[in-house]
Amino acid sequence: MEIQTNYLTVSGTEPAIPEIIYLDNNATTPLDPRVLKAMMPYLTENYANAASTHRFGVSAHEAVKQARQQVADLIGADTHEIIFTSGATEAINLAIKGVAESHSQKGKHIVTVSTEHSAILDTCRYLETKGYEVTYLPVQSDGLLDLEVVKSAIRPDTILVSVMHVNNETGVIQDIQAISKLTHAQGAIFMTDATQSVGKIPVNVDDLGIDLMTFSGHKIYGPKGIGALYIRQRQNRIKIPALIHGGGHERGLRSGTLNVPGIVGLGKACELAGNEMVENAKRIREMRDFLENELLKIEGTWINGNREKRLYNVTNIGFEGVDSEALIMGLSNPESDSPMIVVSNGSACTASRIDPSHVLIAMGLNEVRAFNCIRLSLCAFKESFCLSEIVSKISNVTTELKRFNYS
Ligand SMILES: *Cc1c(COP(=O)(O)O)cnc(C)c1O
Repeated sequence: MEIQTNYLTVSGTEPAIPEIIYLDNNATTPLDPRVLKAMMPYLTENYANAASTHRFGVSAHEAVKQARQQVADLIGADTHEIIFTSGATEAINLAIKGVAESHSQKGKHIVTVSTEHSAILDTCRYLETKGYEVTYLPVQSDGLLDLEVVKSAIRPDTILVSVMHVNNETGVIQDIQAISKLTHAQGAIFMTDATQSVGKIPVNVDDLGIDLMTFSGHKIYGPKGIGALYIRQRQNRIKIPALIHGGGHERGLRSGTLNVPGIVGLGKACELAGNEMVENAKRIREMRDFLENELLKIEGTWINGNREKRLYNVTNIGFEGVDSEALIMGLSNPESDSPMIVVSNGSACTASRIDPSHVLIAMGLNEVRAFNCIRLSLCAFKESFCLSEIVSKISNVTTELKRFNYS
């Protein structure tokens, strides 16, 4: 896969249309070839256990050390505040269950948001069965939290407030700085699931007042199966127990032989994301805005989520009278003259169920309208983008589906 810089040519000189136009990057991203290159030695010749004391092991340990620095640098953390896990889901479980267990003397109340990822919601629901009380905050119709509502939900027995930074379905960006302030004013711990923001917009754990933060490699052009938990050790030191016990790896918080290639890949992905963030943001935003403006010309189309406080790579868009499942199938139907376009509705983790998106329902859409919506999420690679092709195929398929609906 070649990385090119001229993405916005809409006609004429652009290269051949790829067979697959992948617009589901909030579900997972392709692996950056430069990340694969960095990982390769640790999948082949350098297979040592990073915990081994021989020289072979030390070189693997050095690679992990460098990756930990790359990850810490991206978020303004110290290296000893980074715990590698198998992904964001595991990091979320470790963080929430850990705080619940270690702070249960102070209280058993947790505050989170109705639009969170299922990893957060299901962990909280589990804790409810163990005697914890969870407040699921409502959001406004634009997906943003009302700070007054947040403030009044935090109580003296609240131990944890967990609010995602960027929503995976709509891209809506919460005011993390303000919410962490409200949390700390009540002496509670502030956590954020930053899986969709780390590497895409500046995230500094000190500036944002973050105590615990989770993120993942495969959402930022890194490999699958690797993620991290940031756990504050400077000021306001957070202590939590382990979920996985064993050899005491990762400061005793996550035992098990380290996934050296994955860790190296996450480190490289973080380094590249930091270096290329500004350029990627500008380019992807231009493409997203172009797509959105063109698609809004289709009658009965609307955008979900606050359009200003929103990540630049995603549009969650509704087409009145169009069933999103039928649209997804229609777009991914590879006809001879048009490419397969891959998009999604709702989060991938709940896609096997036929429930409407819980995020859109929480924003006040009724079921009918929630089932009209798809998510297009863009990435930094040229491969995915032939903007005019995307617009015309979506326009053709929606027209066809509407005709079918009304005939
Ligand atoms: C993808 C995602 C997760 C889960 O990450 P995994 O590394 O796949 O476990 C959690 N939260 C958000 C917001 C996500 O987008």
